[in-house]
Amino acid sequence: MINKVRTEEALLKAGALQNAIFNSANFSSIATDAKGVIQIFNVGAERMLGYAATDVINKITPADISDPQEVIARAKALTAELKTPITPGFEALVFKASRGIEDIYELTYIRQDGSRFPAVVSVTALRDGEDLIIGYLLIGTDNTARKQVEEERMKLDQRLRDQQFYTRSLIESHIDALMTTDPQGIITDVNKQMEALTGCTRDELIGAPFKNYFTDPELAEAGIKRVLSEKKVTNYELTARARDGKETVVSYNATTFYDRDRMLQGVFAAARDVTERNQLDLALGVAKEAAEDANRAKSDFLARMSHEIRTPMNSIIGMADLLWDTPLSQEQREYVQIFRKAGGQLLGLINDILDLSKVESGQLLLECVEFDLGEVLSSTIDMMANRAQQKGLELTLHIDPEISTLIAGDPDRLRQVLINLIGNAIKFTEKGAVTVWVEPDPENPDPANLGTSALRFAVRDTGIGLPEEARESIFAPYAQVDTSTTRKFGGTGLGLAISRRIIELMQGRIWVESTMGNGSTFYFTAQFAAGLKRSNPPQASSVEDHSAAPARILPARAKALRILLAEDSSDNLVLIQSYLKTGGYQVDVACNGAVALEMVISGSYDVVLMDVQMPVMDGYSATRQIRQWETENQVAPVPILALTAHALPEGVSKSLDAGCTAHLTKPIRMTTLIDAIEQHAPVRASDDPVFVSKDPVVVSEDMGLASLIPGFLLNRRQDVAAIAIALEQSDYEAVRTLGHNMKGSGAGYGFARISEIGASLEHAAQSRATGEIRTQAGELVEYLDGLHVACD
Ligand code: ADP
Repeated sequence: MINKVRTEEALLKAGALQNAIFNSANFSSIATDAKGVIQIFNVGAERMLGYAATDVINKITPADISDPQEVIARAKALTAELKTPITPGFEALVFKASRGIEDIYELTYIRQDGSRFPAVVSVTALRDGEDLIIGYLLIGTDNTARKQVEEERMKLDQRLRDQQFYTRSLIESHIDALMTTDPQGIITDVNKQMEALTGCTRDELIGAPFKNYFTDPELAEAGIKRVLSEKKVTNYELTARARDGKETVVSYNATTFYDRDRMLQGVFAAARDVTERNQLDLALGVAKEAAEDANRAKSDFLARMSHEIRTPMNSIIGMADLLWDTPLSQEQREYVQIFRKAGGQLLGLINDILDLSKVESGQLLLECVEFDLGEVLSSTIDMMANRAQQKGLELTLHIDPEISTLIAGDPDRLRQVLINLIGNAIKFTEKGAVTVWVEPDPENPDPANLGTSALRFAVRDTGIGLPEEARESIFAPYAQVDTSTTRKFGGTGLGLAISRRIIELMQGRIWVESTMGNGSTFYFTAQFAAGLKRSNPPQASSVEDHSAAPARILPARAKALRILLAEDSSDNLVLIQSYLKTGGYQVDVACNGAVALEMVISGSYDVVLMDVQMPVMDGYSATRQIRQWETENQVAPVPILALTAHALPEGVSKSLDAGCTAHLTKPIRMTTLIDAIEQHAPVRASDDPVFVSKDPVVVSEDMGLASLIPGFLLNRRQDVAAIAIALEQSDYEAVRTLGHNMKGSGAGYGFARISEIGASLEHAAQSRATGEIRTQAGELVEYLDGLHVACD
């Protein structure tokens, strides 16, 4: 009894469960009889398909609510699969299930309103107690959402493929050979160009070490290492070697690349074929060299030509100078003056051309010596004053008091630029004034702490002015605005071109501002080192002097110097002999180098003047042999001054290399020659002017300077007092300036000892050595006292 109740209970429970499942709205459950006619159509089916159960039960089969095309297709497929004919109707939907095969398939159901939806259908055969099929159960789920997701995924996949294709095309269409490697340098991807570069296929390349494809594998490996350590490299040159041996020079740019988590993935590298670029560079180099050769040839030609012209010029100018010193009629004096002036102009032109060719071939090197800018400026103004005065022009100089005038640079080249600008200003101005200004460069504020000083110079005139279009072009060689002025005043059109190059070497620039008819202002800037300590003076000097000869006073010597003059040209011989006679020297002549050598060995000379071009043995060989003989016989070297027309540095160094003491460039002016002899002649104790009662020798037609000596000496006595006062106030700068000026002027007046004391004072002041300053001041007093006695 109890059992029966339990069984009924169980049956009820199971029935309720089955009902619940069967009526779930989430599945369509359709049960048919064995023929397929629908017997049960649950709530889920009603909801999904839009039919009411009463519309379908006992009326249609599930095939009637399925897509007919799909049913036909399914029948065909099953016929083929199971090798038995299956009709395209309900049979096609349940055939597998009727054979006991589990069957789940996709199918499109058609709703009552004609709309469709994808369904997944699971079919089961329903059997009775004897296992005979009494019907079928088709459980379906709506597959729309899944289908949509699937479609989305497909679209995404397509987009990804498109993207990959696009990236790939980018990589393949790149002109560079591209490649990625892993951090070990194993190739992970390449493009077509990389295949072409190596002559290997993509498959062969991927997985192989990168370094294998280069002539220098170590260098290639080092490249990868460098990318890894520095994260990128640019322009890393390697030579790729293809399978067939063809070599290509490539330049690599490479970077590392990372994944989303910033983990290093490898190296991305692009190699560009630079063979053509390198060839172009090579061709450019060759062209540049050819141009430089041509330029050198031009400078050589100019140097040689100027050499040829300088030699006869030496005679012309020298003879004119000598003639000038002889008694002449008024008319003759005028003629001589004309050819002195013409000679001077011609020499100016040669010097300009030579200068330009020197700068253009990079042979012009600036000196760096300490100098007093104030002195350079005022001596330049003094030099030009006469010319200004002749035209009734006022010439003035303004130096900004802020400027420290003790600077280091090339005073001679600075003077050359100033002379050119002031000369032009005077030349192109009829009335008014020429003014020179110097101030700190406003565009380059005083970098005093850096030990340099940038200055701006301005030369202002009230002359004809410059038309707008000429303000740049006049700085080109041979450019002149108006040739008629040039005819009137002379000029080569080279001055500004040379000035510009010099200024550029001084790290400055030059330009002009002007108003037509109202004058011009030429500006230039230049940088100098601050003058603190004097740099070493050059070992040997090239002496060239074209300025008007100032009067010189030489120290008297107890005995005339013995000079050997080696010179083959009779013109030059006459000229130099007459110069030397004026200097009061005892002169012997050798007509070539071999004779000169014999005479040096057998005689004893204080100075040898050696022409370099001579027959039998030239001056270089003679000098070399004299030096050798001196060494072998332990004889003190005699000063040998080379006389040449070579003004270029090679010419100078050639004579100095041969052993010459100094180098004099023709045409040689008398004062230059005598200065050089006096500078290099050995000084004997008995030559000191303190101990001789004889007057100093005055080498000039002009006695003006001799009359200045008493004043000069008096000023030195005042210096002694000034030094004492400066010392009391610890004003070492004042002592230094006094010493510096004494050093610069003493020898010029014939008192080498004053120059020496000046140098010591300057030195002592620089190191604030009070004791030494007092000693030197004492020396000066003693020397001046002694002089007084001698002059009395
Ligand atoms: P030049 O030897 O002919 O003076 P430069 O190179 O020094 O050569 O000058 C070139 C030209 O620039 C001059 O011929 C002149 O026409 C012009 N020039 C130079 N300075 C001045 C100036 N201060 N005023 C007017 N024109 C000038």
